[in-house]
Formats: sequence, C-alpha cells, structure tokens
Amino acid sequence: MKVLVINCGSSSLKYQVLDMRNEVLEAKGLVERIGMEGSVITHEKTDMEKFQLITPMESHKDAIGHVLDAIVDPNHGVVSDMSEIGAVGHRVVHAGEKYADSVIIDDSVLTALEECVELAPLHNPPNLLGIAACQELMPNTPMVAVFDTAFHQTMPPESYIYAIPYEYYEKHKIRRYGFHGTSHKYVAERAADMLNVDIKDLKLITCHLGNGASVSAIKRGICMDTSMGFTPLEGLVMGTRSGDIDPAIVTYIREKEGLEQGEANEILNKKSGVLGISGVSSDFRDLEAAAEDGNERAMLAIKIFAHKVRSYIGAYIGEMNGVDAIIFTAGVGENDIAMRDIICNDMGNLGIKLDLVKNKVRGKESIISRDDSKVKILLIPTNEELMIARDTYRLCK
Ligand code: AMP
Repeated sequence: MKVLVINCGSSSLKYQVLDMRNEVLEAKGLVERIGMEGSVITHEKTDMEKFQLITPMESHKDAIGHVLDAIVDPNHGVVSDMSEIGAVGHRVVHAGEKYADSVIIDDSVLTALEECVELAPLHNPPNLLGIAACQELMPNTPMVAVFDTAFHQTMPPESYIYAIPYEYYEKHKIRRYGFHGTSHKYVAERAADMLNVDIKDLKLITCHLGNGASVSAIKRGICMDTSMGFTPLEGLVMGTRSGDIDPAIVTYIREKEGLEQGEANEILNKKSGVLGISGVSSDFRDLEAAAEDGNERAMLAIKIFAHKVRSYIGAYIGEMNGVDAIIFTAGVGENDIAMRDIICNDMGNLGIKLDLVKNKVRGKESIISRDDSKVKILLIPTNEELMIARDTYRLCK
C-alpha cells in the first residue's frame, strides 16, 4: 500500500509518498506561500531532479490539488492513478487528552479536534484545513490523524499536573501535554533497534533539538516526562522561544514595557531564546560563526542552551533512577557537533562519555559515546513522516 503523508502549516505544506511494503520513500515535496503571492510547489521524485511550479494557490485545497497533480504526473509522479494511494496520514499537533494513539478520522474525531483548536490556535486550524481539503479531493480514501501530543499521554500525573489550583485542570484542561511526540517515539524505537535491546528494558532520554526543542524521559517505551508543557513554549531554550522562565517575569515586563494584550506572548515565542540572548540569530550556524568572531552574547546563548539541556538530562536521570542511552535528534541534535560536545562535556561521573572522534558526524545514525561509557550516546536523524506513514498503514491495511 502507498501512503501519502501530509503536514500542513498555516501557509506551507510538506508531503511524502511512501510505499509501505518496504517503507521506501517515493516522492516528497513542499508547497510554500499558500494564500500569498508567489505560491510555489517543489516536488521531488526519489532519484530525480526537483520539479518546481509557481502558480497561484489561494487555499489549502488548491495546494493539495497541486500535490495530487504532481503525484500522478506521467513524468515526475509516482502513481498512475490516485486510487493507488491507499490512505493519507495527517500530522495533527494537538489532541488534548482525547487520543493517546493515532486514529482513523471520522466525524467524531473531527469534532474532538475542533475542540482542541483553543489549545493550539496556530497549529490545529491549518492541520484541519489539510484534512478537509484531502477529504474533499479524495472522498473514498481513509485518513488517519497522527498527533504530536499522543506519545506523551502516558505521563503520570506528577509529571503533567501544574502546581496551580486543580480546578484549572478540570475546567480549562491546563496541564502538560508535550509535543514532538512522533519524533521522540521514532528515535526511542530506533535506539532500541540500534542497541539490539528490547525497548521495555531501556531507560532513554531523547533530545529533540531543532528550532523548537524538547527532551523526554522514556522508560520501558513509555513517556514518563517531557520538557514542553501546556504549549510548546515551556522547557528548553529554543531558537526564538524562551523556554522555562519565572512566570512573574511576564507581568513585570508587561508593566515595565507597557505591552498590549498578547505582546508578551509574542516576545516569549518569537523574540526570545538564543535569538533574544544573542541578538544575532536563531540559527546555531550563525551563532557559532559569531561566537568564533568573538561575539560574547552569541557565546553566552550557546552556553545557556547547552546548560538547559544538561539540566533536563540530570533531572530525568533522577526521575528514572538512571539512563541507558541519550539520543540526539533534529536540526541541532543531528548536525551540531560542537553543541553535542558542550552538552555531554564533564558528565563522566554520571557514566556519560562522548567520543570526540565518533562525534564528528552529521545526520547519520551513529553511536557516538566512548566504548567505556556506561551510558550510550546516539545520533539518530528523526523521521516523523515515516512514523506517520507507519501508523497510517497499521490502521488502514
Ligand atoms: P529543525 O527545526 O529540526 O529543522 O532544526 C533547524 C535548526 O537546526 C536550524 O535553525 C539550525 O539552528 C540547526 N542546524 C541545522 N544544521 C546545522 C548545522 N550544520 N550546524 C549547526 N546547527 C544546525
């Protein structure tokens, strides 16, 4: 069976077609600037040159129409007819407490996801638009929703309840949800395969370090804790997000700076993180170049980012009474050799010893700890699309 994976953002859309008999990626692409001037689709059939088309796309339905055209195109397409696509897997950011696993989409699922819009106002609406567009254009094809929050639903209450009046959890569903769940789950399962140990016998700490970043504690394949919270703002320092701060700072800045409603949120989400500290960039490549040129705030941003990851690793070792492997994934985790070095530096007493030679690798599955390191350190490129395709196939085959 071939599966189409759709990851829909507010003005962009990523897609992949995978043949699930052997989990082979056949084509992938990106639509950008949906609803704006200069809408463009970039489509890439595996082992072929990229194909690009600039054409007006007013809506997500227009965008998906172009995706389907590209997939059936006689030159760069991968199916002769849309009926060859057996199912569509959709990435959906927030499922609240409703779903702890992926689910075949029906009307009741759509209603539940509508109810989650207020929990993820930026993410769920475009996800729902993508589903609606596919349902309209492919009315007989089953659709599956795969949630960023689902994997974290196994956390115990002591990890997800905030120490604020309990009624806010009951009335407003305010709790830790966690995000990047598909990625944390994927790399945890890959780690068990690479180490050739049953995941039920492992304690893992997965570090998804990208522009958004989160860490999870995974014991026996079950998520025990994760650093992102009610929204993806909590936890680590990120590209432009503050991560954990004293909540009193929000009211204080509002008063001092005379901020309007919503502005503080905007600052903490878009102007903070390593960008806010350094004043240089949210991209670690820029930060490291600036640090090399002697920019002290860029250096400080790098140190603060690493410090926070180390704090969470320490906390999760405590929570799980140990760790067997630490996994690095996503843009920074997969590619930033220097950052992995700073994070793992001087952790020998915890049995964590990075091999500085093996660490000189980017974007390739590798064990990068020293042979005498009690805790294995792994680099595992994440593959959320494959995970979505696997769940879609499992539910629809
Ligand atoms: P992601 O959100 O997972 O796509 O990660 C994107 C981030 O990864 C970028 O903003 C960069 O900060 C970082 N990144 C990508 N490649 C490199 C690299 N070669 N060295 C350092 N950081 C990188």
